Amino acid sequence: MTLKFRHPSSGNPLTIHAIGEVLPQSRYQRCPECDTLFLLPVVKSHQDAFCPRCHAKVHNGRDWSMTRLGAMAITMLLLMPFAWGEPLLHLWLLGSHIEASLLQGVRQMVLQGSPLTAAMVLFGSVAAPVILVAAIAYLWLGNILGMNLRPVLLMLDKLKEWVMLDIYLVGIGVASIKVSEYAFLQPGIGLYAFAALTLLSILTLIHLNMEELWERFYPQKPARHHNQQLRVCLSCHFTSVADKRGRCPRCHVPLHHRRPMSVQKCWAALIASLFFLLPANLLPISIIYVNGARQEDTILSGILSLASSNVPVAAVVFVASILVPFTKVLVLFTLLISIHLKCEQGLKTRILLLRFVTWIGRWSMLDLFVISLTMSLVNRDQLLAFTMGPAAFYFGAAVILTILAVEWLDSRLLWDAHESGNARFTD
Ligand SMILES: [Zn+2]
Ligand SMILES: [Zn+2]
Repeated sequence: MTLKFRHPSSGNPLTIHAIGEVLPQSRYQRCPECDTLFLLPVVKSHQDAFCPRCHAKVHNGRDWSMTRLGAMAITMLLLMPFAWGEPLLHLWLLGSHIEASLLQGVRQMVLQGSPLTAAMVLFGSVAAPVILVAAIAYLWLGNILGMNLRPVLLMLDKLKEWVMLDIYLVGIGVASIKVSEYAFLQPGIGLYAFAALTLLSILTLIHLNMEELWERFYPQKPARHHNQQLRVCLSCHFTSVADKRGRCPRCHVPLHHRRPMSVQKCWAALIASLFFLLPANLLPISIIYVNGARQEDTILSGILSLASSNVPVAAVVFVASILVPFTKVLVLFTLLISIHLKCEQGLKTRILLLRFVTWIGRWSMLDLFVISLTMSLVNRDQLLAFTMGPAAFYFGAAVILTILAVEWLDSRLLWDAHESGNARFTD
């Protein structure tokens, strides 16, 4: 069996024979995605290592020191008030000048009676980045003061996909193309701050290596001897034998053979998201008042009218709002059925599909961001106004539920089903 290593900057693959020639200092590790137990030789800090069976990344070569992460956090903190409070776009409409900022968009949503939808937008674009910065500050300070860092490290790993600044930035682009039909637009100072903030947050998230942070703050003795009792912790990715209380010795989260109730929770989230997807697509998501006349648009009719003026942007919105949520539901449905039927065929395809929907799922929030920003841009009362329809809430809820469904599905169950006729669902 071989392990693949790749240099992060050059990208050149290096193949190292791992099993057969036992190197000193190598350690046993289980893959968090397929549960294979393999021997991992010493990996240099800048090298990536991949699982020999499913090619999941088991060691990330990208890593920044706490000092560098702290510097990034401070810069992000300084940019935040400008990125969120200053106007992202200036608009000249019917002789008047309107400015729209991120916080104004959220405020408009609250004023129009949809605080829950506003909360969804606020969480992805403001709260999650603030929590990210606060968590880095806590780690930096807590390390010096000797505080318990475990809860913050556990939370940081989950937080990563909810920082949606990149999606909001694309949303600004889509909103400005939509609105430029009606009015003349110019970028505001907030847009530059927002773009810088987005770039810094992406760089920070790429280099925030949770594995290395755990290793730095809570160093553990790695498993040097083969033992079938070795389990991998899904929270901190450490492979070990559970302690006396059945917990991971590094992060203190209970160690299970498989994620408990994984299939049941995934089914529940999936069915609930289907219930929300129906009204999300059938009810109007946006309502435009032109000279007092009310014009309603569903997700699909909105995309069709956008396609008449700008096909590429309509395609982006179509992929994010219709293709991704429905593909995700379909893929999860197929995966769950394949687990129940102990399906053996097409395992590779199913694993690739699961990774794909995990990666792309968060982009569905795009439409909500576009609506929020457009609402604060086009708001001239009776003459021309843009407001949100009831579908927006259902749509946001469906997207969040599908993200959770993917998170709750234990991919090791797919391998179990593939391997034996009597896969165990829970511990
Ligand atoms: Zn694997
Ligand atoms: Zn752990």
